[in-house]
Amino acid sequence: MKSIETDYLVIGAGATGMAFADTLLSETDHEIVIVDRRHQPGGHWVDAYPFVELHQPSAYYGVNSLPLGQDRIDLAGINAGFYERAGAAEIQHYYQRVLEETFLPSGRIQYHASSDYLGCEDDHHIIRSNISGGITRVAVRRALVDASVVQSSIPACHTRTCEAEKGVTVVTPNQLVDIANAKGFTVLGGGKTAMAVCFWLMQQGVAPDDICWVRPRESWMTERSYTQPLSLVANMVKMQAASTQFAAEATSVPDYSVRMEAAGMSVRLDRDRDAIINRGATISLPELSALREIENVVRKGHVRAISQSAMIMDEGDVGSNPGRVYVDCTAAGLNSAAAAPIFEDGKISMHFTTMGVAPWSAAVIGFVETLDMTLEEKNRLCPALHRTGDIYGTMNIMRVGMPAEMARRQVSEIAAWSAKARLNPGRAIPDHMDDPEVQSSLGTMMQNYQPALENIERLCAEHSG
Ligand SMILES: Cc1cc2nc3c(=O)[nH]c(=O)nc-3n(C[C@H](O)[C@H](O)[C@H](O)COP(=O)(O)OP(=O)(O)OC[C@H]3O[C@@H](n4cnc5c(N)ncnc54)[C@H](O)[C@@H]3O)c2cc1C
Repeated sequence: MKSIETDYLVIGAGATGMAFADTLLSETDHEIVIVDRRHQPGGHWVDAYPFVELHQPSAYYGVNSLPLGQDRIDLAGINAGFYERAGAAEIQHYYQRVLEETFLPSGRIQYHASSDYLGCEDDHHIIRSNISGGITRVAVRRALVDASVVQSSIPACHTRTCEAEKGVTVVTPNQLVDIANAKGFTVLGGGKTAMAVCFWLMQQGVAPDDICWVRPRESWMTERSYTQPLSLVANMVKMQAASTQFAAEATSVPDYSVRMEAAGMSVRLDRDRDAIINRGATISLPELSALREIENVVRKGHVRAISQSAMIMDEGDVGSNPGRVYVDCTAAGLNSAAAAPIFEDGKISMHFTTMGVAPWSAAVIGFVETLDMTLEEKNRLCPALHRTGDIYGTMNIMRVGMPAEMARRQVSEIAAWSAKARLNPGRAIPDHMDDPEVQSSLGTMMQNYQPALENIERLCAEHSG
């Protein structure tokens, strides 16, 4: 058994653990040990399906110290006119570079791959290598950092909940790329993975009529032009302004979503159906119109079992044909772990604290950790936001997240650091202050800020009461 000492022990080398460690490495002299049961850094991206892409631009994903991509605006395809979005292979390579070019050469970060964090015994944290079985005892001087709390459930690692008769082909999106001669496809799931799969199938020449889409519920998504940074940031400010205004005016939480839709900022695939889900996905208008070409949408609840001739569903059977390929896209994606305090004595739990964007949230927590403040003050600046994945959760996130964001802006060290942080989605806003549209959006935001908070409080109370 080996014994080591460190300032921080980080569980998880996913996007949040990496962004947190990178911030501490740049801003302090502390030592960090990172442990992850996967064999390389990047978290769920290591097992992602090959055609997956970020929802957001690469320009504000990853870690602060290394750009991801070239901040290029795509000229063709469904992302044309928007900042590039990395796919799985690029993201995996990126995190490997962060490790090899920055973390390990610093001499202050140790990385334990293919190793499980097992818990704490006699004031020592226990790591076990899954390859050698070797145990390492870690004495932690400052904090244990749990960067596994919001880990995503992804198709390759989730256990399918519906039974399939012998001979029925059910694949994950990872396996889909190797399928040949299918007699039609049935895509299970209404989330962003299912959308990516449907779109990919159509790109491979599968006719929309050969796709059956089991989509029990509709989701709200953000139209992608409103998530653009850098030279296109004006639209992001416009959306924040509209969101604040509609939050001030809405008569109910669903009414807020419908107002966002009327302004073109939120979208749903089927405008005639109510949508409650909101998992923070983004979509471009060309992708949305392509997906709307799939008309064979099954809405009978969840699939419980699949036979050669039918799908057995919550609300009745649906006929099918032998030779069809079923693509399981039902993994939850978002982990809606209840939010506990982020900063505790000797422990940091990496819940979301910014309204969306996992790496930025983790970097903010990392920076606040470096400040000489009480736990109470750190938690006031970084409250944990509970992501339930629906519109009521989103409203509650605004209730807790908006005042915290305002409070962080008033701390000069945080404001100065944020202004130069590449993970900050809005870092280019100060460069656009002479743009009349940005000025007008900021004015709308300021004017509606307090009324929005008051109305959000009322809407959330109404929902929970
Ligand atoms: C397809 C897809 C696209 C997405 N796109 C975006 C996007 O564009 N922008 C965005 O902000 N978010 C996006 N997300 C959300 C995503 O969850 C975050 O971006 C981010 O990757 C989450 O990182 P994480 O570190 O919290 O979790 P993970 O990536 O799940 O990493 C957690 C790590 O902890 C390790 N671990 C857990 N327990 C232990 C243990 N006991 N011992 C050792 N290791 C352990 C796991 O092996 C894992 O590698 C997307 C999610 C999906 C599924």
